[in-house]
Amino acid sequence: MNNRNAALSAKTSDIKQTRRLVDFCGRTITYLRVSLTQKCNLRCGYCFGSVDKNQIDKREMTNTEILRLIQSFVSLGINKVRFTGGEPLLRRAIADLVKGTSALPGISIVGLTTNGLLLNNFLPALVNAGLNRINISLDSLDRDAFRRITGIDGFQRVLTGIENAENSGAFPWVKINTVVMRGINDSEIPRFAEWALSHRIDIRFIEFMPTENSGWDKDLFMAESEIREKIGLALEEEVAKGDNNGPARRFRFRDYPGRVSFISAASRSFCNQCNRLRLTSRGDVFGCLFQNNRAGLKKLLEIAATGDDISEHIVKVIARPGFRRPPGEVSITEYEPYMQAVGG
Ligand code: SAM
Repeated sequence: MNNRNAALSAKTSDIKQTRRLVDFCGRTITYLRVSLTQKCNLRCGYCFGSVDKNQIDKREMTNTEILRLIQSFVSLGINKVRFTGGEPLLRRAIADLVKGTSALPGISIVGLTTNGLLLNNFLPALVNAGLNRINISLDSLDRDAFRRITGIDGFQRVLTGIENAENSGAFPWVKINTVVMRGINDSEIPRFAEWALSHRIDIRFIEFMPTENSGWDKDLFMAESEIREKIGLALEEEVAKGDNNGPARRFRFRDYPGRVSFISAASRSFCNQCNRLRLTSRGDVFGCLFQNNRAGLKKLLEIAATGDDISEHIVKVIARPGFRRPPGEVSITEYEPYMQAVGG
């Protein structure tokens, strides 16, 4: 094992699972989303804002630092980690991060949310490293519309990535994230549903959320109820089981293998059952997507704090009254998150 891998590999003897992460409302945290970079290789108008690459490189954590923080979170009962971004596949040696994370005692799920553009280069290494969940973003099934939305002529590459992920057999589902925007891709809703249902694919229609740089407008917004009407199929809701404590409501159609899900931050509140935290590539932990409360953890790494010190600090931060948003009527608030940094 070389030095980098040695540093990245979990020191299992250091890990003591004696504490849990519980917020001031009594919600237990078991899921950590880690944004690996703010950089992205797509230019989706509703997400992308220009970022100074040099600034990013200086302030983003190294893989060793990221893994040290993940270790501390896992020692506090986190059992699921998802890598996101920016575009996480732009992160160097991402397979090492997946490997180091999946080796941690207590971890059962290591996931990735990607735009799929580079997936074909990385998939075998990621699967070998222990990746067992995958979400691929795709807002159009039409090559020209894909290019208009993302700024890149990459539709075929993403589609091949999706097919390869499906054929790999490494994932219980290949999940597709589709943000629905009226007048942009809503006419494709029935086609998306038909495509996904005939594969082992879970198409997740996401309500367009007001985020920084998104150009969100009520005329572009389409609610879950309207999306469901457009699908025009008698979908049956799936009984929640397994790891379904997330925001998605899942539906099946007759004997078809695929699934249709809805993530509807505007129409429904997820806060009640929210079990997640978000860690940015700069080492800030956010307790809620729609609230600007954050705590910087990078400085603890810089002063060489021990894993125990970091865990203790995290426990205190999460328990602070108001650090996480209490259950409310709707999930979104007036605060607009910067998706490229917090990772969705
Ligand atoms: N680059 C990766 C990708 O494309 O999946 C990961 C990061 S991206 C920020 C994560 C997810 O957030 C994507 O599925 C994207 O479509 C979604 N997203 C970004 N902006 C959004 C918005 N304003 N409303 C709803 N979803 C959004």
